Amino acid sequence: MASETDTIFGKILRKEIPTKFIYEDDLCVAFNDIEPQAPVHVIIIPKKTISRLATAEEADEQIMGRLVIVAKKLAAQLGLGDGYRLVLNDGPKGGQTVYHLHMHLLGGRQLGWPPG
Ligand code: 5GP
Repeated sequence: MASETDTIFGKILRKEIPTKFIYEDDLCVAFNDIEPQAPVHVIIIPKKTISRLATAEEADEQIMGRLVIVAKKLAAQLGLGDGYRLVLNDGPKGGQTVYHLHMHLLGGRQLGWPPG
């Protein structure tokens, strides 16, 4: 596992990797996924370094709530009125590859279930 501050998303937050933020507030930022799995594929991350959901704390409740509320606002702005999916992969078996907690907002096509 990469060190907590040395993830790709940490570098994006510190602007070491230039990435256009489509949303930013005091607690989080959002940007388009580099390898989109749907016509809309946005990544929403907390500014606080939290490596994965499993290590989030009670005190992170406001941050976690903000990620969901931002996701639903972006979904509306991006024209996903017919529905969308929020995904939060945790740990190796959850398919997490970047160890800076993040939420995926996926939409713009019919999504299948169950996920792989
Ligand atoms: P995970 O598999 O950890 O849930 O999701 C990580 C996501 O980050 C993947 O969808 C991957 O395409 C995306 N990603 C990895 N590196 C970069 C990057 O440098 N820029 C952006 N915008 N997305 C990235």
